[in-house]
Amino acid sequence: MIKFLDLHKVNERFRAQLDARWKQVLDAGWYIRGKQDEVFEQHFAQYTGAKYCVGVANGLDALNLIIKAYGFGPGDEIIAPANTYIASILAISENGCTPVLVEPDIHTYNINPDLIEEKITPRTKAIMVVHLYGQAVQMQKVWEVAKKYNLKVIEDAAQGHGAQYQGRRTGNLGDAAGFSFYPGKNLGCLGDGGCVTTSDEVLAAKVRAIANYGSDRKYHHIYKGTNSRLDELQAAVLDVKLPHLDADNARRREIAAYYRKHIQNPLIVLPQTYEETAHVWHIFAVRCPRRDDLQTYLKEQGIETLIHYPTPPHHQGAYAEWKDCSYPISEQIHREELSLPMSPVMTDEEVKKVVAACNQFG
Ligand SMILES: *Cc1c(COP(=O)(O)O)cnc(C)c1O
Repeated sequence: MIKFLDLHKVNERFRAQLDARWKQVLDAGWYIRGKQDEVFEQHFAQYTGAKYCVGVANGLDALNLIIKAYGFGPGDEIIAPANTYIASILAISENGCTPVLVEPDIHTYNINPDLIEEKITPRTKAIMVVHLYGQAVQMQKVWEVAKKYNLKVIEDAAQGHGAQYQGRRTGNLGDAAGFSFYPGKNLGCLGDGGCVTTSDEVLAAKVRAIANYGSDRKYHHIYKGTNSRLDELQAAVLDVKLPHLDADNARRREIAAYYRKHIQNPLIVLPQTYEETAHVWHIFAVRCPRRDDLQTYLKEQGIETLIHYPTPPHHQGAYAEWKDCSYPISEQIHREELSLPMSPVMTDEEVKKVVAACNQFG
């Protein structure tokens, strides 16, 4: 059986280093917001190119805290792509803001930058871009529109660790970015984790305070905050794995290049990439008009695949108010998308088997 993602194998590579770092945490006797978190935050900020990094409990909280720290709330609108994981949208509605959905580009699967401006109203406060599947959004147009209307650009970088646009990494392509370190992400810990990156000192301090009961120093509460922190064990894991992220992403690129060169089946539409957007292939998303048949066929061949995602946010029960809305391009992607096995620990032999099976599907 070729797994979609063998997480045990991914993390087993770091066992010796992890053992040593865990011992440090135990020995230090300090488990939340300590040395490990501090060091990882510095390393990850450096990695993205942003000035600040604040470790938080998960990716959803990271986005939620950014919106909260900007003070956006009821009556404010935030533009977001119609096809994304629901967390992007939940972060907006959790703050009482209205998500305004924009169709993606069928080739990049990312928000179509040409369709943003027409959705702007006097209530629009921010544009949330999602670097979906590991490909950075083509930011130029987003920046122009944001500047013209004085909007914040928030990145949902939960799938884009290390991806670049014009040589700049995600996490440093907008005013603030939310990352997830959920185990299956390109940089994942062994539980929940996330962070906010930004070069805005005031915003970083505010996110840090809100995430710690709204307190800027002990027992001094200046915001009605929450509890969302990255614990020392997870920070230690992330700091061990971060130096290997680029090599892991390079291996993903190698596999993606092989898939794109050798999968030749008129029924399977391969993902496109662009020179200016260095893709990190969190997900290798193909489209197939007979997607469910393809998934069943691959399963019979011993190949596990997933669907990202079967139902668009606007058709989820949680957003009943959108049930009559139509975003045809998003709906087509959700109907046809299939994610082939993709991870830095796949062997060449496994990659070849996936290609052969895809080419035999008919
Ligand atoms: C994983 C993910 C999130 C949420 O991250 P969690 O750490 O699971 O809360 C948000 N947005 C996107 C696009 C994701 O893939």
